[in-house]
Amino acid sequence: MRIVLVGPPGAGKGTQAARLSERLDAPHISTGDLFRENMRNETELGKEAQRYVDAGDLVPDEVTVGMVKDRLAQPDAAQGFLLDGFPRNTSQADELNKVLADLDQRLDAVLLFEVDDEELISRLTARGRSDDTEEVIRNRQQVYRRETAPLIEYYSDLLVKVDAMGTMDEVTDRAMDALADEPED
Ligand code: ADP
Repeated sequence: MRIVLVGPPGAGKGTQAARLSERLDAPHISTGDLFRENMRNETELGKEAQRYVDAGDLVPDEVTVGMVKDRLAQPDAAQGFLLDGFPRNTSQADELNKVLADLDQRLDAVLLFEVDDEELISRLTARGRSDDTEEVIRNRQQVYRRETAPLIEYYSDLLVKVDAMGTMDEVTDRAMDALADEPED
């Protein structure tokens, strides 16, 4: 299956993507993880991305889209993938459509993880990643509302909502159930 995961920062996309990746036997492709790996290894791409990630801003599309294209061209992604953190705006979504069309592929579903605002803050502050300071979190939430939330409309035909409150196991089961309910076409 080819799946995109969408949800506000703190919704648990990364955690769920890793679990769904095992159950569905498809690679988990996280742009946040790819950026952090490049920053750790001090690659050119990592150096370009650093200040945006640190501020909670989107890394420019030119950098991000190229990175995702390269990753989707790897053999392990040929049969399916879980994209976590990409696309994060509608122009990235347009780019993804083009990349997939070139490969004669299409998305099967867009999973939207829904969580209360209060729960989001408490999850993020508990996590303690270096871009999880209050100011940066607030900016990431604004960026989500402004840039990423429009994808809900964009992907209305593929959208599968998942209640992401509750335990990690409950959420994984709900996501699996929701995917199983999706009509194949
Ligand atoms: P979270 O799930 O908490 O939102 P991520 O690990 O997905 O965090 O992303 C961390 C940071 O990486 C983002 O704040 C942003 O700076 C950068 N990033 C990740 N994905 C993208 C993307 N698709 N486009 C631009 N920037 C991105």
